[in-house]
Amino acid sequence: MKVLRGIAASPGIIIGKALRLDSEEVSIPKRTIKESAIPKEITRFQDALTRTRAEILSIRDKISKEIGKEHGDIFNAHLMVLEDRAIIEEVMERIKKELLSSEYVLSQVLRKYVQSFMKINDEYLRERVSDISDVGRRVIRHLVGEQRVNLGELKEKVIIIAYDLSPSDTAVMNRKSVIGFATDIGGRTSHTAIMAKSLEIPAVVGLESVTQHVKTDDTVIVDGIQGVIVVNPTPAELQKYRQEQARYQEIGRGLRKLRDLPCITTDGRRIELAANIELPEETPSALSHGADAIGLYRSEFLYLNRADLPTEEEQYQAYRKVVQEMAPKPVVIRTFDLGGDKFLSHLQMPHEMNPFLGWRAIRFCLASPAIFKEQLRAILRASAHGKLRIMYPMISGVQEVRQANRLLAECKDELRVKRVPFDDNIEVGAMIEIPSAALTCDIIAPEVDFFSVGTNDLIQYSIAVDRINEKIAYLYEPAHPAVLRLLKTIVDTAHEKKIWVGICGEMAGDPMLTTVLLGMGMDEISTSPVMLPEIKRVVRGTSYAEAQEIARYVLTMKTGSEVVDFLKMRYQQAQRSGPTRKEEKK
Ligand code: PEP
Ligand code: MG
Repeated sequence: MKVLRGIAASPGIIIGKALRLDSEEVSIPKRTIKESAIPKEITRFQDALTRTRAEILSIRDKISKEIGKEHGDIFNAHLMVLEDRAIIEEVMERIKKELLSSEYVLSQVLRKYVQSFMKINDEYLRERVSDISDVGRRVIRHLVGEQRVNLGELKEKVIIIAYDLSPSDTAVMNRKSVIGFATDIGGRTSHTAIMAKSLEIPAVVGLESVTQHVKTDDTVIVDGIQGVIVVNPTPAELQKYRQEQARYQEIGRGLRKLRDLPCITTDGRRIELAANIELPEETPSALSHGADAIGLYRSEFLYLNRADLPTEEEQYQAYRKVVQEMAPKPVVIRTFDLGGDKFLSHLQMPHEMNPFLGWRAIRFCLASPAIFKEQLRAILRASAHGKLRIMYPMISGVQEVRQANRLLAECKDELRVKRVPFDDNIEVGAMIEIPSAALTCDIIAPEVDFFSVGTNDLIQYSIAVDRINEKIAYLYEPAHPAVLRLLKTIVDTAHEKKIWVGICGEMAGDPMLTTVLLGMGMDEISTSPVMLPEIKRVVRGTSYAEAQEIARYVLTMKTGSEVVDFLKMRYQQAQRSGPTRKEEKK
């Protein structure tokens, strides 16, 4: 038995047989060619490019139709790789010069690109590596005529084990057969993690060496809640996980009953339970998990994986779809947060030493008002179709809010002149995710209608711990007294200034912390749709008075682990005691 730890990408527990996808599924012999065969070899290469292009286009159209345009657009990035002149010309040159087969030369050229991208410490570029490898494999398969396992046509239920899964893999996956997956690489923002959650398939990513420890047909347990993989478990371990799985499924069934019940404490305090989404297609999942609102729509995903910027019209359509589907429930659109670990190659954002401290989010938007205003106008136009709210990311001080609000006012004027309808009273919020904003939120409050605390960034900046560096992950403590004190300050200040405050970082999705957030006085909790029922169960099982007491108590503790030990014990006790209300017992 072997236990591997990675990043929990999509919750759920699944036990099954592994199917390992080798990263080099196609072996490429070093084959030389005669000088007279050069033209034929080049034609063969060009034919393979054409066939690959047709293949990608057909996948793109199929995915766009079946899952949604945003997912299909991921393949535009693949088309860009396929049309990259530098790669194509280098391959043709080397075929001529070195008299080697096109598949061999292509594999060498791609390997060189992949290696140089891997050396750059930049998550976005590393994700482009999977685009290059994916496209490269397709072209090579056309050249050597071998077929890879088609994930859309699996006959048996399997758990996929792979170095990485490309967007084309995840998108065509037959959800009835692929019951879970585990990958060597991938972070919280990787496509694989996002897709897994929206497909609701348990998954663990970033395991580093799962492909070395698992073979096809091994028995594997994927624990997407803890981020753990167990390979060839002992009978005792298998038994333990079967019970755990049954318990999780039972909880799931029980939780579904909660969907239409209000998120309210036993003594009547209501908290808004909202969902975080990345793509408009996730709205039905938010609703089916009982979301009262969308608390964070990460709009930058509309800008990723594509060759051009989305037009105002395209953005408007996407935002309108979400707001109409949610109506009359509110939707918070976060204006785009590019930079950090999310880049747009065609915007030529410079490579920075400290991208998380660099030219990202609102800083980039205020420096590019034309792009920013297109988005603001699109949001305003969509606000005529339901209840929209705007939120600015990475606010460091009040001047940025004022500047952004001035641009928003200009956009409103422009629309008024054109007699385009919009919600003039649209609420505007600031994300509080930088310590300087947390400490000056009394100054920021009068300029906005609400705050949303982005703890993913707030934690990384206040503890000085890079949120995507696994080596220092042990320091990344949501329950650190510094973080809890900052949260308390933000909530108290917001309420003194008579505005509402929510939390939308990942810690909002940890049910163990729910009582503390509730007790501090948070008005809204926003997290992944799949976590909502459990959070609601915790809220409905406690009184506000008790939650306040707990929040006060943990704020006296000296370390994060003290807080976690205490909350874990409480949470487990509460879970054992089961539902507390009449309507949940049925
Ligand atoms: C956060 O920082 O907590 C947040 C919600 O935004 P993101 O994770 O997109 O930076
Ligand atoms: Mg953030």
